[in-house]
Formats: sequence, structure tokens, C-alpha cells
Amino acid sequence: MARRKKIYEGKAKVLYEGPRPGTIVQYFKDDATAFNAEKKDVIDGKGVLNNRLSEFFMTGLNQIGVPTHFIERINMREQLVRSCEIIPLEVVVRNVAAGSMSKRLGIEEGTQLSRPIVEYYYKDDALGDPLVTEEHIAAFGWASQQDMDDILSLALRVNDFMSGVMLAVGIKLVDFKIEIGRVFEGDFQRLVVADEISPDSCRLWDMETGQKLDKDVFRRDLGNLADAYTEVARRLGVMPKNQGVTKPTLIN
Ligand code: UDP
Repeated sequence: MARRKKIYEGKAKVLYEGPRPGTIVQYFKDDATAFNAEKKDVIDGKGVLNNRLSEFFMTGLNQIGVPTHFIERINMREQLVRSCEIIPLEVVVRNVAAGSMSKRLGIEEGTQLSRPIVEYYYKDDALGDPLVTEEHIAAFGWASQQDMDDILSLALRVNDFMSGVMLAVGIKLVDFKIEIGRVFEGDFQRLVVADEISPDSCRLWDMETGQKLDKDVFRRDLGNLADAYTEVARRLGVMPKNQGVTKPTLIN
């Protein structure tokens, strides 16, 4: 295939021009970063796992009518997606207190929340992605009120879907982050779930043992990250049993 034009390189992915107008190729790297890229490593096989897991979640969302940017997986590390304009917000949904919310509010990690909490962070690495309110979002024009209604509804639908899928394989969905994109269709625009959904952007705890199966394994030096992601993929049937960890070969 002819070398594609690079559009953008982020911490975990590279975006290339897609084969058709309005499409983009997302390439999943093995790079892992945390704490605003202060901690970095290369985790053999992580990109392959996240490409496949994100395909799995996005396909499921598409099937239940939650629009996403995902079109199809191309190969082990690449997927074809619709190009969209990313709204500069990280939308976080929490079911259990953990991470920054536990720290900020002094709520013990693992405390079950009585209802899902949706938070918005302004996407700006230089500022460390600060927490913002809907007032900031409206005042600075990052999204309209209609957008915010749609974003909330998308976030809660993704939460219900992901919680159920995870529950079925004995995993608690503690929290996750999604990004939302605008897709333009003629004079109309609609919002879709974009970027990726993978253990890089979720907190996933084994329901019986509490073992962490997400990027906290890397953030907190709890073991081998690829092993944890492989376990999630194996339970979801995305990868066959006894799959080698360092060089995953994926089922079709
Ligand atoms: N998250 C993410 N990217 C970010 C920040 C957070 O994917 O830049 C995810 C994170 O993996 C977790 C959820 O969003 O599943 C909530 O993260 P939190 O605010 O607790 O921040 P953290 O403790 O990860 O710094």
C-alpha cells in the first residue's frame, strides 16, 4: 500500500489520511504514557491489543445504535474511521470512586457511587487537562447546549453498554474516558463517539479479586500491562486462550 500522509501523531496513536475522502486511518502504537507523559515506556503488543479491543467496543456500540467514528479494522495495528472534528473535551464517566476524583474529593477508592457521575476535562496537555464545568464549555464556545445534551446521552449509553459487557466477563467498569467528534453530512452535523475505547482509557477491576486490568497497572507499577490487556481481550473472546503475550496473533 502506498505510504499514507501523516496527519497527526499523538501519545498512543498516529493518524493518516484515509483511502477515501472523509476517512482516516488510526494506527495504534505500543507507546504507553501517564501523568501527562512524564512516565513513558514501550509495551510490546499494546497497540495490537487496543486496536482489537477498540474495534470490539465500537462495533458493539454501532450495533446498538450508538454512533461511533469506527468503520472497520484494516490490520493488526490500523483501523479505518470517519474523520471528524474532535470536541476539545475529555468526557469521563464514573461508577466507582477512583483516580483523580478520589484524590480531589477525598473519597476512598472503590466507593460505589449512587449514580454515574459525568465530568468534563478541557483537552489541553499544557494545562494538564483541567476539570471544567458546563459553564466554561458554554462560555468559551467549546460545545453548544444541544451538543452537551447529546454528549451526556452518548456518555451514559456508552456507560450502560460497557458496564454490561464487562459485567458479563466478571469485570467492574470503574470509570472511563471518551472523546466526541462532529461528523458533517451536507448541511447537518452529528456527534459520534471517536478516538478509542480500550483499557488505556478505562478503569477495569476484576469483580472477585479486585485485580486491576487497565492502565493503572502501568501508572502504579503493578505488573505487566500487556498481560492485563490480554486477560481483558481473552475474557471478551477477542483473543484465543493461551495466546502469547509479547507478540499477540489475533483471531480474525
Ligand atoms: N483518562 C484517560 N485519559 C486522560 C485522563 C483520564 O483516558 O488523559 C481515563 C482514565 O484512564 C480513567 C478515567 O479517564 O479511566 C478517569 O481518570 P481520572 O480523572 O481519575 O485521572 P487519572 O487518575 O487517570 O489521572
